[in-house]
Amino acid sequence: MLRLLIIIVLFCSSFTSEAQLIRVGLFASQKISQVRFSPKVGSCFIFSDTSFIAKISSPDLIEFSPEQTGKIEISINGKVLHVGNNISVVQEKNENHLDIKVLKPTLKTRSYEGDFFVLNTKGYLQVINDIDLEQYLEGVIESEAGTGQRIEYYKVQAIISRTYAMKYKKKHESSGFNLCDATHCQAYLHKRNQSPVIDTAVSKTRGVIMLDKNGALYSTFFHANCGGQTCEPDAVWNQKIEGFSSFKDTFCIHTNQSKWVKKIPIKDWNTFLQDKYNFPVWDSISVEQMFNFQQNERKTFFINPFFGIPLRDIREAFKLKSTFFSCSKEGDFIVLSGRGFGHGVGLCQEGAMNMTKYGYDYNQILAFYFPGMILYEQPIASFSFRK
Ligand SMILES: [Zn+2]
Ligand SMILES: [Zn+2]
Repeated sequence: MLRLLIIIVLFCSSFTSEAQLIRVGLFASQKISQVRFSPKVGSCFIFSDTSFIAKISSPDLIEFSPEQTGKIEISINGKVLHVGNNISVVQEKNENHLDIKVLKPTLKTRSYEGDFFVLNTKGYLQVINDIDLEQYLEGVIESEAGTGQRIEYYKVQAIISRTYAMKYKKKHESSGFNLCDATHCQAYLHKRNQSPVIDTAVSKTRGVIMLDKNGALYSTFFHANCGGQTCEPDAVWNQKIEGFSSFKDTFCIHTNQSKWVKKIPIKDWNTFLQDKYNFPVWDSISVEQMFNFQQNERKTFFINPFFGIPLRDIREAFKLKSTFFSCSKEGDFIVLSGRGFGHGVGLCQEGAMNMTKYGYDYNQILAFYFPGMILYEQPIASFSFRK
């Protein structure tokens, strides 16, 4: 009877609730062979397919392990209770949370709200968090932007993250969830921590997304610091992207990440250029051009396009903070004096943070970094992450 009642409650709540749910693959890059859930606040119900298995609350521990048959073994407090498929962990109240500890391999414990699915995917476990979009965004903003920022900045991040979630909701469709928890999608390393300023930023922008002039979801690229000039997408990904072109940004030029220096042994530098691009390291004129390479404005190629050496290749090969650097010689080293951190396309985070200090609001900040964008308040009931 209890089981029937729970199923009816769940069925009804999924139709009456206004919440929009998103499915996030947790620990998505890991091959998990054992995971433990421990309720921290409130109780949760365990189902296998539609069968009710148990109700657990603190200090109960529930562990899942994949079987080679494709099923999942469930033990509670060290005792095997069930072997089944399609496990769901449903929290009694939406704001309850539990700790998830991946035991094999050993990973740091994380805390999450919402419900969960545990799948056996080719002999490994996949844990999926089924959570209200706005609650998810609060966790993402803290993971991506940290604490201690002004509310207008968190509103900017909320709109960017919401737009991203909607634009890429099918990114992991074949794995059974919308987005993963890593920077591949958006970092989501823990539940929201009830930070009032982040809560308010998300609720004040509830449902708001960014559209381009054609009504499509805007591409929400961002990076730590552009070094004073944003970058053409073409120079980063070899393709033009509607709505993005390079422009000067004076809001970020005196911040932490605005400058960097890296010394590289000339021997390593020359080997790379010669082996990969046939650069004439024996030619004194070319070598002089190399040591005097300057970028007062962003360039796409090293020295000049004639040599065919994209700056993005140099950045990748030498793990540089950006492609926005100039060169000089110091003994056996080439010295790169760089500006900015990240690919340089779209929103410059440190520039946006500084704009809030000068009193700009989220709308003005987004309009500066995403020219032509239109903010649109999506009626919550009209979109869904479900098929
Ligand atoms: Zn992803
Ligand atoms: Zn900038």
